[in-house]
Amino acid sequence: MLELKGKVAFVFGVASEDSIAWAICKQLAAAGVTLYLGYQKRFMSRIFQLKDQLPAIDGFYPLDVASDEATKEFFDAFEKDHPGKKADILIHAIGFAPRTCFDRPILFVEDADINTAMTISANSLQRCLKFALPYLNQGSSTITLTYAASTRFVPNYGIMSMAKAALECWTRELACHLGPEGHRINAISSGPVRTIAAGGIPGFDKILDHVEQNAPLRRNVTQDDVAGTTLWLASPLSSGVTGQCIHVDAGYSITMVPHSIME
Ligand code: NAD
Repeated sequence: MLELKGKVAFVFGVASEDSIAWAICKQLAAAGVTLYLGYQKRFMSRIFQLKDQLPAIDGFYPLDVASDEATKEFFDAFEKDHPGKKADILIHAIGFAPRTCFDRPILFVEDADINTAMTISANSLQRCLKFALPYLNQGSSTITLTYAASTRFVPNYGIMSMAKAALECWTRELACHLGPEGHRINAISSGPVRTIAAGGIPGFDKILDHVEQNAPLRRNVTQDDVAGTTLWLASPLSSGVTGQCIHVDAGYSITMVPHSIME
């Protein structure tokens, strides 16, 4: 286990015990990191239950990345309780597209829904970093979560594919913009994992089955697989890595013709 005692992390994107961000919280906590969570108000009761499981959680505040004002509220609340405190790690594990993005052919998805998906799932990385920057120590590490539908077709992922492509582009742009000050920004492209957000993708279970049969490791990844790579990216062991998109997907992304056609 990596030792990150004394480090501080902002973690955005815990909604339940199944959230990838919750596995990240547990591994960061085990490494000695103090955690400040930003949660969406609709998940407040779950956050209140979960926080008692991890003494490393020193604070939790509402966060809605839909607007500048609501994003700033998180940092204002943090500053009020912890004046002068700064973080070393920022976890952006946020994704959302309205139901109406998935229940019709992509050609007919409405502008407003496209804009919501892009704002919350992609542009929010820029928004979070814009407000976080005064609260980040030099040499900070930001990690966001993406999916391989950013570069390849995945049935039913639809508008989220565009959002993930933009998110990966933001990762590179922000890495170049903030790199001269020593800040690092990387993306982890996770294989499919059953979570609340994933439950919104029609046919998600079929994707899980397909990956299990065809990924080089012949299994799906777990939240802990993703959290392990997150810990590495948060640590000095990855000090020369920025702007990258690292696949944690049991190797599925290197395949083209599925192994299962030979059976
Ligand atoms: P999850 O539902 O547990 O987490 C999604 C989080 O996004 C929730 O905590 C939710 O509160 C937050 N969120 C949504 N809208 C928000 C807003 N307006 N303001 C603040 N927070 C908001 O699901 P997850 O699968 O753990 O998702 C975390 C990230 O991982 C997402 O970016 C998702 O796209 C990505 N990802 C997931 C998978 C998968 O298969 N589960 C695969 C690849 C990438």
